[in-house]
Amino acid sequence: MKKIGIMGGTFDPIHYGHLMTAEAVRDEYKMEQVIFIPAANPPHKAGLTITPAIHRFNMTLLATCSNPYFKVSDIEMRRKGPSYTIDTVYELIKAYENDTEFYFITGADAVQELPTWDRIEELLNICQFIAATRQGCIPDVDAIKKHFGTLGEKRIHRLATPELEISSTDIRNRLKKGYSIKYILPEAVEQYIRKEHLYLT
Ligand code: ATP
Ligand code: MG
Repeated sequence: MKKIGIMGGTFDPIHYGHLMTAEAVRDEYKMEQVIFIPAANPPHKAGLTITPAIHRFNMTLLATCSNPYFKVSDIEMRRKGPSYTIDTVYELIKAYENDTEFYFITGADAVQELPTWDRIEELLNICQFIAATRQGCIPDVDAIKKHFGTLGEKRIHRLATPELEISSTDIRNRLKKGYSIKYILPEAVEQYIRKEHLYLT
């Protein structure tokens, strides 16, 4: 079976936390590819102001182009309405051969929210989950696995990664206040942000 990773997120903007996590999982699981999918209308961020999807897509492209295993998809940008992962995974299953297994990659915070995801039990049946968390977060992931019973035990996995203390929220705040964002995201992404005057207000 071929393994394909899915790295979903708002990527507003993408940073080294996302990139390092995706690469660590790809390497450990020997995946053929990791597809970064910027969410057009993330349901859990409804009501919040987010940067137009085209900018988030472009930044994700710039950040990932040096890694031959990374790919960026506009699959959620082409769909109207809230970006539900389950709709995305069904589309991917249709587009790929039958011998492909999909793994959705999340960080420690996102895996905690799984019980609130749309049609989550159905999603767990068609796609496995890998929670990349630092050593100390084991009990949290165990609790989520237990929450889903046997399905959770079989389909949710955990990989210890040296989690970076980076978030897009922090980057946006830094830009608003005029602080440096060097060394927390790729240089090309910073150049894009400056060129397009993003995150100034
Ligand atoms: P925001 O602060 O706007 O919520 P974010 O930095 O959390 O942004 P998202 O786009 O919300 O980024 O997250 C996409 C995915 O990346 C989620 O699964 C999240 O858990 C994971 N992630 C975010 N930051 C890190 C990090 N520093 N290390 C590992 N995973 C991360
Ligand atoms: Mg987040």
